Amino acid sequence: MSLSRRVKEVFTDGRAAAGLPGYTVRHEQVDMASAVSDLVELGGISVLEAGTGVGKSLAYLIPAVLSEQVCVVSTATLTLQDQLITRDIPVVGRILGETIEAEVLKGRRNYLCLRKWYQWGSAVAPELKDWVEAGNGDLSLSSIDPGSDSLRKISGDSLDCLGSKCPEVHRCHYYAARNRARKARILVVNHNLLLTGLISADLIPDAWFLVVDEAHALDKAASSSLGYTLSESLLNSVFDSVVLSDRTPERKTALLNKARILAGQISQLCSHAGENGEIELSDILPDLQDIADNASSFREEIRNEEDLSGASQTLHNLKRSVLSLTQVTPSNWCCYVEKNRKRPLLRCVPVHPGSLLQETLYSSFPSVLLTSATLAAGDSFLYSDSRLGVPEQADRQVFHSPFDYAEQSVLVLPDDLPMQNDHQLIANYAWEIARRTAALLGGRTMVLFTSYRNMELCCRAAEENPLDGIPLLVQGKMNRSLILDKFRKDPRAIILGTASFWEGVDLPGELLRSLVIDRIPFPSPGHPLTQARMKALEDQGKNSFTHLMLPEAAIRLKQGTGRLIRSETDTGAVFILDRRLKTARYARLLLASMPPFRVGSVRAALNFLREQATDL
Ligand code: SF4
Repeated sequence: MSLSRRVKEVFTDGRAAAGLPGYTVRHEQVDMASAVSDLVELGGISVLEAGTGVGKSLAYLIPAVLSEQVCVVSTATLTLQDQLITRDIPVVGRILGETIEAEVLKGRRNYLCLRKWYQWGSAVAPELKDWVEAGNGDLSLSSIDPGSDSLRKISGDSLDCLGSKCPEVHRCHYYAARNRARKARILVVNHNLLLTGLISADLIPDAWFLVVDEAHALDKAASSSLGYTLSESLLNSVFDSVVLSDRTPERKTALLNKARILAGQISQLCSHAGENGEIELSDILPDLQDIADNASSFREEIRNEEDLSGASQTLHNLKRSVLSLTQVTPSNWCCYVEKNRKRPLLRCVPVHPGSLLQETLYSSFPSVLLTSATLAAGDSFLYSDSRLGVPEQADRQVFHSPFDYAEQSVLVLPDDLPMQNDHQLIANYAWEIARRTAALLGGRTMVLFTSYRNMELCCRAAEENPLDGIPLLVQGKMNRSLILDKFRKDPRAIILGTASFWEGVDLPGELLRSLVIDRIPFPSPGHPLTQARMKALEDQGKNSFTHLMLPEAAIRLKQGTGRLIRSETDTGAVFILDRRLKTARYARLLLASMPPFRVGSVRAALNFLREQATDL
């Protein structure tokens, strides 16, 4: 019997329902699982968009397990990795009645580094002593604060890891996880690890089937994994090693001064960037060479001091990375500085990561599935094809969400909007809508902004006209996970968020009922990487608005509006405050890319929310 038939039977003969309480057969999920089965059997590349609620994890995991092939599943974040290994794969095991040999592998930073622990860890984080004795080194399972300095001082780091020269390598948690990963039938990784693992080491086992879930995030991961970064923070482990060593105060001061000079050179180099962060690689080549030379001579000075071996390794890797940066071909790469950070970060990234993905990733596995809820702009895959380097012969399909959006939700494009460039008036409008829906719903409202400026203007409007008893949870004043934790515990609040709140936020049921979006999320035309991509298109005679700005905005809008309805019983309203959605010719593509909401007026939406609020 074909794999496709066997997989279909699992979904329809009662096994799925027995293994997953509340399961109902969805033909979109069965069809997707069937397409995945054909891919696994025949090989090739498939790009499958699965709308929210299709249940794509089971649609690829069940064929993967039944095929008995080795499978690597890559997803975008550590949270999603944990979700797959602790929730989805055990569900598949129950459905199929078997124990699945699955492992999760994370980057070095997520594991305790035993060398550092024995060198200074028990002084830095004494509360972890019992956990270190009993644990498997996965720091996410310890009690340590994820953003703390202590965590940084004891976690693994590819920059200062001594690898086979490390005295603790035989007990190293990271290497143990790598060994387990090589024997797994299903290995769960993240995109960054997948890409660095394929390039730099025998990290990813030979596998027949690769699943890239959340594939819309693959090109960003490719830019950071295949590109170069330079920042003062790269010297953290040098500072830590010296400060925590038992050198005399004079010797420490001398070594710290050297590290500071190097940090100062990096900071100085970043200061060459223009207003939008743009920087010409050719202008900084001499500075890069100086940094490499200084790192090299500093390393020579400490290379025989055993307890500074981590610092020495960092300097060695820093030098290598800086020299590689001097070798890149400027026309295919874009250099810029991210200035809005505690310490500026120089990035040098490929302008077209897609071609690198073809070379390094797709050619390494006989069957490759790229899947996500947001890959197509309208009904076209052209944009994600070019971003992700998908070859022409790939299979492409869309499996629509099973939700009844027209019944469950209302989309509002208000008639009386200010011009979208009048940021203060738009921010006031956004606050007015958020205030009204939050008063009606008892919070349960989120406003997504396309810029920090608009969000700050909205905060100001909220200060002038507050809503009693409904707190604001504002990105930047609190970190993202804290905001989401608070909101999940008590949704009587309004979230104000920018970039990272547009995707990966899951607030189902009664948590989120009203979503406000300040404007169409076009990419920032001033960003050096956007400019480099626009120029590359124009050089090919293509219109950069049609081929980049518009499809990018369409996919982003699909992600943002997709935050509202997360299950078949969710209800709510989404308000988009950009009049161009009513007037511009290109609006049709943007509207076609969003879930098929019913369109209504502000009044109709408020009435709908009121009717639905009886259960709150
Ligand atoms: S091998 Fe690397 S990560 Fe493991 S203990 Fe040694 S230095 Fe730390």
